[in-house]
Amino acid sequence: MKSRTLQLPQVIAVDGPSASGKGTLSRRLARELGYLYVDSGAMYRTLAWHCLRRGIRVEKPMTEADEKAVVRQLRSWKWEIRVVDGQAWIHVDGYFPGTEIRTDPVEKAVPVVAQIGKVRDWMVTRQRQCAALGPLVMEGRDIGTEVFPLAPVKFFLEADAAERQRRIADRGGSTDGAWRDSMDIHRKKGALIPALDSIRIDNTGQTPDETFAVLMGHVRTRLGPKASRDAGD
Ligand code: C5P
Repeated sequence: MKSRTLQLPQVIAVDGPSASGKGTLSRRLARELGYLYVDSGAMYRTLAWHCLRRGIRVEKPMTEADEKAVVRQLRSWKWEIRVVDGQAWIHVDGYFPGTEIRTDPVEKAVPVVAQIGKVRDWMVTRQRQCAALGPLVMEGRDIGTEVFPLAPVKFFLEADAAERQRRIADRGGSTDGAWRDSMDIHRKKGALIPALDSIRIDNTGQTPDETFAVLMGHVRTRLGPKASRDAGD
């Protein structure tokens, strides 16, 4: 008998603001379930990194010409998604930028790039195509609302602002996550908001192990006890 989960893209969507635990927990979920892990933020970061390297102005306020210059890159850059160790990462000109997309200049440029409607359209299309690679856990800001609105499991992670700021400081981040979150919440398209059918989890004061156990409990309830990539075979 085929599983009902095979009728939908077997996607677990994990959204939330910066330092809400999305990255660590999504990677762990993917590993536990044998799903592919996709960091959609890395795709936006890689475009911001690429634009900065090309000398394109990516700061507020963006003029129409600035936005067009960013959108032109989407037509010309040589990108591809490569799967390495169960994780899908975007490469440019065959190069994986790795930690280069985690620097301060990229951190400042990325929400500016992510506000451009045509950039979002491009990203959403490519992110949906990842479902062809197999069952996946995708983390981001609009995965449950825009990218996979029919995902069978959607999480929206939260934690109070002071704790999130502390987590950023603990991992050596120097920029203020609140500015980026505010831009993400207030943009017109693909705003950071919980999907109506998402499972909202406030993990303030929880250890990653505790939150992970809560997430796995929901996954088993929604996808069945054998919620792994061979479910239903
Ligand atoms: O998840 P991460 O912090 O790496 O995301 C970086 C930025 O990419 C976010 O602040 C947001 O501006 C953008 N982003 C987005 N939509 C997503 C994922 C990330 O707009 N699905």
